[in-house]
Amino acid sequence: MAEYDYDLFVIGAGSGGVRAARLAALSGARVAIAEESRVGGTCVIRGCVPKKFMVYASEFSRTFKTAEGYGWSPAQSTFDWPGFNETRDIEVARLSGLYVNNLNKAGADLIHERARIAGPHTVELEKSGRRVTARKILVAVGSRPWMPDGIPGIEHAITSDEAFHIEEMPERVLIAGGGYIAVEFACIFAGLGVKTTLVYRGANILRGFDEDVRAHISDEVEKRGVRIVLGTQHDRLEKTNHGVISHLNNGMHLEADVVMFAVGRRPYTEGLGLETVGVELNEAGAIVVDDFSKTAADHVWAVGDVTDRINLTPVAIREGAAFAETEFRNNPTRFDHELVPTAVFSQPPIGSVGLTEQEARKITGGQVDVYMSRFRPMKYAFTGQDERCLMKLIVHPVTDRILGAHIVAPEAPEMIQFAAIAVKAGVTKAQWDSTCALHPTLAEEMVTMRDKVVPPTLTMA
Ligand code: NDP
Repeated sequence: MAEYDYDLFVIGAGSGGVRAARLAALSGARVAIAEESRVGGTCVIRGCVPKKFMVYASEFSRTFKTAEGYGWSPAQSTFDWPGFNETRDIEVARLSGLYVNNLNKAGADLIHERARIAGPHTVELEKSGRRVTARKILVAVGSRPWMPDGIPGIEHAITSDEAFHIEEMPERVLIAGGGYIAVEFACIFAGLGVKTTLVYRGANILRGFDEDVRAHISDEVEKRGVRIVLGTQHDRLEKTNHGVISHLNNGMHLEADVVMFAVGRRPYTEGLGLETVGVELNEAGAIVVDDFSKTAADHVWAVGDVTDRINLTPVAIREGAAFAETEFRNNPTRFDHELVPTAVFSQPPIGSVGLTEQEARKITGGQVDVYMSRFRPMKYAFTGQDERCLMKLIVHPVTDRILGAHIVAPEAPEMIQFAAIAVKAGVTKAQWDSTCALHPTLAEEMVTMRDKVVPPTLTMA
């Protein structure tokens, strides 16, 4: 009889856990994977995927206006919120089903229960009380939206989790936060015709992005109808007969039908029994791991958002794959967290890879070459729609290597996926420019920027 019930027990069937479980099972390991919710995790069930469908849905209002500029008669368009939500959820269920099928095909046992670690090689299943043993345990439980303590009335606010289940389309939405989720949902609601206000505590939205990108996207988002209120926080929320009023600490009172807090996510480590085996957590509650995703505890690994390295789906997938490769295919593999491209699906969207100008200046001691272009997309040349693109390259002044590429434009995420190959490969600006432009496209601007921006470019606190 085998020493353990399984070779690998994975807790959490999201992007990272499923990839690791499948690859390990396909390598011949006996694998179980436990999930307390629906298979697919945040990305498939209540994140990237349904969010992107909402982005698509909300973009049509603008497309209709563009169509009129091209000679189409005004479209008689109304939006069927419940109908769209139902269709979207059917697709999400289909995708979740594909994950289940793929796990089954690989031979992994899927356990629909919450699991917690009960000993070095033991996992306890909460509902059945069953105990299962495994040679190795992988924690891939992701993160959860976080709500700040100490705001009276905060229970009247929702998070992105609930945003997918709003039954009636709201007329007014107030969003708290200035990160990915806040900006993406603000654009979604505004595109659908909802009166949208975004309240952020800092000087400008999307801290961490290049300052020119932040300034540019802030203007573009406002042009799309999002009201941005900066430099203030929520003192308390008050439920009324007409909605929820947020009392801000700058004295403003804003009323909305829905108040959504998007002020970050936290690793979902509570109640997992991690302390029983000596898994180390950092101050944010994230599991501390080494380059091979190994925790401080023998026989326990962790991948994805629960480790709070780079909280993106493809990163979790790569970390899960590297773990399976190392532990079940005898091929030690680390995922390289350098130069991971990222996108904000704002409207227009942002694509970004590598260093911001501000980060690059810190590394080079102040000197960087900056190339930047702002222009109106050809598509809107005569439609009367005021939208501008931004393209920016950050180049090392001595090596000529491209350190960062940043785009705000329609399809920017699609462009940056390919730009990231060149940036990751370490190309120089001269090599980049030797690639012939493809005309007429937006992306051709990226290989035709010849003049350096005279420093300093726009800087913001
Ligand atoms: P982010 O970390 O992107 O943004 C959090 C926002 O909340 C920031 O603006 C932050 O302000 C603000 N904030 C934090 N604490 C408080 C507070 N106490 N009071 C008021 N505001 C506060 O988190 P999100 O929740 O938007 O997204 C979580 C992560 O999920 C992202 O970082 C990203 O990794 C991932 N994600 C990726 C997406 C994509 O790839 N397109 C889409 C959605 C999520 P400040 O900047 O001042 O700290």
